[in-house]
Amino acid sequence: LPADIFPGRRNSAGVDLADPLVREPLLERLRKLDDRQWHAEPTFRHPHEGETAPITMPQDLSHEVGTRRDTLQAEVGEAIARAKEAQPAWNALGGSQRAVLLERAADAFEAHTDELISLCQREAGKSLVDGVLEVREAVDFLRYYANEARAMFDRPLLLPGPTGEENRLTLAGRGVFATISPWNFPLAIFTGPAAAALAAGNTVVAKPAEQTPLIASLAVKLCHDAGIPREVFQLLPGAGDVGGWITSDPGLSGVAFTGSTDTAHAINRALAARDGAIATFIAETGGQNAMIVDSSALPEQVTRDVIASAFQSAGQRCSALRVLYLQDDVADEMLEMIRGAFEALTIGDPEDLATDVGPVIDPDAKAALERHIARRKRGGSTVWRRKLDGSLAHGCFVAPTIIEVDSILDLKRENFGPVLHVARFPASGLEQVVDDINTVGYGLTLGLHSRIEATRRTVEARARVGNFYVNRNQIGAVVESQPFGGEGLSGTGPKAGGPHYVARFATERVVCIDT
Ligand code: GLU
Repeated sequence: LPADIFPGRRNSAGVDLADPLVREPLLERLRKLDDRQWHAEPTFRHPHEGETAPITMPQDLSHEVGTRRDTLQAEVGEAIARAKEAQPAWNALGGSQRAVLLERAADAFEAHTDELISLCQREAGKSLVDGVLEVREAVDFLRYYANEARAMFDRPLLLPGPTGEENRLTLAGRGVFATISPWNFPLAIFTGPAAAALAAGNTVVAKPAEQTPLIASLAVKLCHDAGIPREVFQLLPGAGDVGGWITSDPGLSGVAFTGSTDTAHAINRALAARDGAIATFIAETGGQNAMIVDSSALPEQVTRDVIASAFQSAGQRCSALRVLYLQDDVADEMLEMIRGAFEALTIGDPEDLATDVGPVIDPDAKAALERHIARRKRGGSTVWRRKLDGSLAHGCFVAPTIIEVDSILDLKRENFGPVLHVARFPASGLEQVVDDINTVGYGLTLGLHSRIEATRRTVEARARVGNFYVNRNQIGAVVESQPFGGEGLSGTGPKAGGPHYVARFATERVVCIDT
C-alpha cells in the first residue's frame, strides 16, 4: 500500500552514535555538562519561596542535578486564568502561524540536543541511545503536529447543501489544556501532548512528573525563546497535590494525561466533579503487554526482540513486554537462548556507553518491583535474577529478572521495570491465550513471532490492543509511522503521533449561511 504522507516533512535524523567522529565529540561535550545544576519553577511565580525539592540522579542518589520549586495553590489558579485570557489571541493566530512557532521550537530543541540528552541521562537515568531517541521523538512530535495545524486549521472544510446554502466546518482551540506527563519520557511525552494542544489553538499549563521537572523546564524555556508566549505555555512543577489543584480548576477545557491507570481514574473523577465546561480527557496509561511466540518463529530473532522489548530502558516503557508466551514444544530451547542473552546484559551507569540496563526511576519504584519479585518467589515461581555489582548500591538499580508464570491472569498489576514473565501454551491454545490477554483489560502493545500467516490473521482479528507488532520488537513507536496508544485500561486514544490526535484537542464549529 502506498503511504499517505504529507509532503515536506521527515522525522529528524538524530545523532549517529555508530560514527566515532560524531560520538566521541558528543561524549566529550556531555562530560562538560556533568556538573551543571538546573532549576525548575513555575513560569509566573509569586516572589516568596515555595517548597524546594532536590532532584537527584537515579543512578546515584547522593548526586543532585538541580532543584524544583513547587507551584503554590494560588499560582495554579492564576496560571489557568492567565492562560484563559491568552487563548483567544493564540487561537486567532491561525494554524500556519502556530506551526511556524512550533517548528522554531523544534529547531531550538535540536540546537540544544546536548543539554537535553544530558538531562535525560542525569535526571531520568536514561542510556545515551535512549537519550538520543528521546530528543528525536520530541522534535518529531513538534514538527508533525505543526504540519497538522497547517493542514487542519487554516481553511474551513466546505460541506454540501442545497443551492443557496453555504456550509463550512472549522476547527478551533477548546480553551486551556492541562498536560500531565510522566518521568519515563520526560522530554518526548512532556512535549508531544503540549505541542498538539498548542497546534490546535489551546493554551497550555504543563505539569511534568515530580521526578523530572528540569528537562521540562528547559523544554518550556526553548519554546519561549522560539516565540511561543509565556502566557500560552506555562510550566507548573510539583507533586501530586499540584496535579489535584490543576484538575479541579473549573477554568480547564481539557486534560491530556500520560501515567498510571489509577491516576487516570482519579483525574477523570476530579474533572467530573467540577463545574464549568465539560472537559475533554485524553489518557495514555499502562499495559500488561504480551508477546506470543509459536514454533515457526526464528529463535535468534525472538531472542533479540524479547531482550529489547523487556529490558531496554530498564523496562520502563508503557509499551514494554511483560508476559512472554512461548509455545510449549519450543519453550525450553527459546528460553535457553533468551536466558543466554539475559546473562550477557550489562547493568550499570547510564552514562557508560556499554550499559544495556540502567536504574529505575526512584526508590519507591525499586521497592515495588522488589516486593513483586519476593512475592512470586514465596509463591514458588521459578525466578532467574542477575546479580548486581556492589558499586551500584548507591543507585536505584533492580537486577533484571525473569519469572515463570502459568498465565497472564496470575499477574495483578503492571510491573514497571526490568522484569519479564514467561508462560507456556499448547499449539491448540492460541485463541485462549489471546482471550486471556483481552480478559486482563489492558490493550496497549502486543507482539507476535510467527511465520504462519493464518496465525497472524487470527491474533490480529481477536486481540484488543492499540499497537500490534509482528516479527519485531514491540517498543519504540515512530511518529507518523506507528501512531501510539491503547484502549481499555490502557487509555482513551487518540494515538500520539497519528493523524487523529490533534483533532481531539480542538472543537468543531459549523457556519451555515443562506446566501
Ligand atoms: N511510545 C513509546 C514506545 O513505543 C512508549 C511510550 C510510554 O512508555 O509511555 O515505546
